Amino acid sequence: MIKFLDLKKQYLSIKDEIDLAIQNVINDTAFVGGKYVKEFENSFANYNNSKYSIGVANGTDALEIALQSLDLPKNSEVIVPANSFIASAEAVSRVGLKVRFCDNNEYYNIDIEDLKKQINSNTSAIMAVHLYGQVCQIDEILKIAKENNLKVIEDAAQAHGAEFNSNKVGNFGDIACFSFYPGKNLGAYGDAGAIMTNNPELAEKCRLIANHGSKEKYHHQIEGRNSRLDGINAAVLNVKLKKLDEWNKIRREIAQYYVENLKNIDEIVLPKEIENVYSVYHLFVIRYKYRDKLIEHLKNDGVETGIHYPISLPKLEAYKYIKQDCSYMCATNWDKELISLPMGEHLTMKDCEYIVNSIKNYFKMK
Ligand SMILES: *Cc1c(COP(=O)(O)O)cnc(C)c1O
Repeated sequence: MIKFLDLKKQYLSIKDEIDLAIQNVINDTAFVGGKYVKEFENSFANYNNSKYSIGVANGTDALEIALQSLDLPKNSEVIVPANSFIASAEAVSRVGLKVRFCDNNEYYNIDIEDLKKQINSNTSAIMAVHLYGQVCQIDEILKIAKENNLKVIEDAAQAHGAEFNSNKVGNFGDIACFSFYPGKNLGAYGDAGAIMTNNPELAEKCRLIANHGSKEKYHHQIEGRNSRLDGINAAVLNVKLKKLDEWNKIRREIAQYYVENLKNIDEIVLPKEIENVYSVYHLFVIRYKYRDKLIEHLKNDGVETGIHYPISLPKLEAYKYIKQDCSYMCATNWDKELISLPMGEHLTMKDCEYIVNSIKNYFKMK
């Protein structure tokens, strides 16, 4: 049995450090906020070469709070790629803005040509998702944003440590959001997230919003909300942040192995890396016309797979109310072909060999 994700194995590899870190939080009763949260916020900002990192309750909250801090005109449009996790779009509507979808390209990120087409006089921002751990074409997006006076929010929930031109994601847009959902490249032991920015005013605003609008207890300057990072999660993240580069490197090695060994199968479309991008392969996603058959074959061989995502955002019931024609988009057609192969530091080279052989067998047998 080859698992898609193996958080138990990961825990056992760092058990002593994790157990101690969690015990320390309990001993210090530093459950919400406190020194472990401060320590993580500082280390994560340092790791990222960013000025400010604000811990929040989850990645979706990070997006909502970040969007709110930008003070965009009510009901203005934010452009969101059609293939992403729903949170990228949900956050937009939740803060009184409108979702406008744009297509994904062969790198599974915002398609630049379609992005240009979606911009109108009511557009206020672009949700630049770094999907699957690959940086989107952020230089082009920033250029277009500047020309059209748009804000850029980076959704880096799948891209901790990914780089473009040796700069880490989270440093390109006006503000960036990370998720530490357990299965992400950097994951907590529960829900957690962070906002990242180099803008001191936005950082302060986000901190205010996330903490009931107060800097000083019971002195509420605005109505905010409760979205804080827990001490136990921060302590876990402090341990795991030190492993992130090593684990990302293993992900890249696995990706390279998959590409090397599957490149001769014409029926499969392999992921491509953009030049000057250091992708961290949160997911390794291939496309194949008879996706369900291959998934079934792999399952029979004991290999778990995933689909990210089986229904593109414009086709979701939740977005029936958006009257935008997205039927021409690659994103809305490829959702029937996507397969995510197992990916993560839990895989051994023997596992990868087994997976590759199972896929090769499928194509010979067919
Ligand atoms: C996981 C994820 C989020 C949301 O993060 P949560 O912590 O689960 O709220 C947002 N955007 C993308 C692209 C994600 O993958």
